[in-house]
Amino acid sequence: MSILDEKIYEIKKIGALIQAPSWFIEELSVPKRVIKTQFRAPIGGTTRILQVIRVHHCNPHATGVRPYKGGHRFHPHVTEELSTVLAMDMTFKCVLAELPFGGAKGGVAFDPSVCSQEELTTITEEMTMELLKSGIPHPDIDVLGPDMGTNARTMYDIYLQVGEANHLRNIPNAGAVVTGKPIDADGITGREDATARGLLMQLQRFRTLQPKPVYALERVTVVVQGLGNVGYNLVNLTHEDEFKDLHIVGVSDVEGGLCAFYNSRIGEILTHYTTTGSLKNAPYGTAITNEELLELPCDVLIPAAIEGQITKDNAHKIKARLIYEAANEAVTPEAHEILHKRGIPVVPGIAANVGGVVVSYLEWRKNRGEHSHIVDLPDQHLWVRTELEKIMCKVIDDVCTTSDTMKVSLKDAAHVLAMQRLHRLLKRKHNY
Ligand code: NAD
Repeated sequence: MSILDEKIYEIKKIGALIQAPSWFIEELSVPKRVIKTQFRAPIGGTTRILQVIRVHHCNPHATGVRPYKGGHRFHPHVTEELSTVLAMDMTFKCVLAELPFGGAKGGVAFDPSVCSQEELTTITEEMTMELLKSGIPHPDIDVLGPDMGTNARTMYDIYLQVGEANHLRNIPNAGAVVTGKPIDADGITGREDATARGLLMQLQRFRTLQPKPVYALERVTVVVQGLGNVGYNLVNLTHEDEFKDLHIVGVSDVEGGLCAFYNSRIGEILTHYTTTGSLKNAPYGTAITNEELLELPCDVLIPAAIEGQITKDNAHKIKARLIYEAANEAVTPEAHEILHKRGIPVVPGIAANVGGVVVSYLEWRKNRGEHSHIVDLPDQHLWVRTELEKIMCKVIDDVCTTSDTMKVSLKDAAHVLAMQRLHRLLKRKHNY
């Protein structure tokens, strides 16, 4: 089964559980809009035709008032099919966190690591001009955010390009076309580490909700796969007081991993990583492969890299007591079944990694003047932290309650909750 077939199968399975009507399943199984357009850009010292894909899955609100929202990737694996699955996840995520957005996703299939910053900026500008021909990005239609291979700089380049072209378009509140911008360019404090911080806030809450003493341990060992925006910040934040009982015992990036180091050395390992761009020759620890990393004994395993990392081939070898899915679809449905039977809970990405879109929502509101302009940075900081914690905790409380009441896994519970809310909203929207 392809990743899209698997997702549709999951939608149908949960649909049967909640006795959803067929029109609703149909509505969720097909994206509303797929934009695919080509452009030529410099890449690795030559020029190539690249394709930008943007998928709008489902928006239970009035489109054109409340936008689609989702990350935009620069990664060789970007396809229409993968973007559709990830846009579906965004729809579920937004409704779980009760944000007024529909689900979108997209990107450009190329390897950004072979490009200079100048090339990346040109690719971003050309891509933005192509998307603008289709009416996006737009604060009320589709708001892009950072994802794999993109960052605050990419969002800034899109923002500048939209600004350049705006005398022809007159987009109101043009700053709100993208989120995850630098703070001094209409961004918001706390967006950079929002996904990681939100996940850790939620993990701490989740531990208090569990009857099993295993999650109440004073020292919780954690393995993190991926050291990008999400993974790096996850590891780095464990220095903070509220997360200091989380002890990192394994980390990795695309090239491989590291284990067997003292938690107190993690700062020096991160410094080595940011200085050299690699875990190779790190001052502490033993080098391991990504496969070995996923199978390390630990309390919590956080895949924070890419989809499809825990599959039917390695699910029975996982020794973690809990999996917290930072990367969307990191655990395949078959692996999830195996883990469920083995009694290893998986908090799914649609609940675990909503922190990024929560803070993006605050940024978007600020840019649109829906929240009073905050001049004082500490005040803004406090607003962001408070809202993030409130929403992350509410999401996991709701998911755990549904899981207990319906006697289903956390993943199924998150989908049940999301689909019930979507059903209610779409029924009203379509007057059924
Ligand atoms: P990123 O590009 O900043 O970092 C990705 C990391 O994963 C890098 O360290 C890379 O070396 C590693 N990696 C890539 N392929 C790998 C592989 N095959 N095996 C092991 N490691 C690999 O991306 P990010 O923004 O940190 O996103 C990571 C995941 O989290 C993605 O699935 C993304 O969709 C999801 N996510 C991100 C955000 C966000 O705010 N950035 C929000 C929600 C979900």
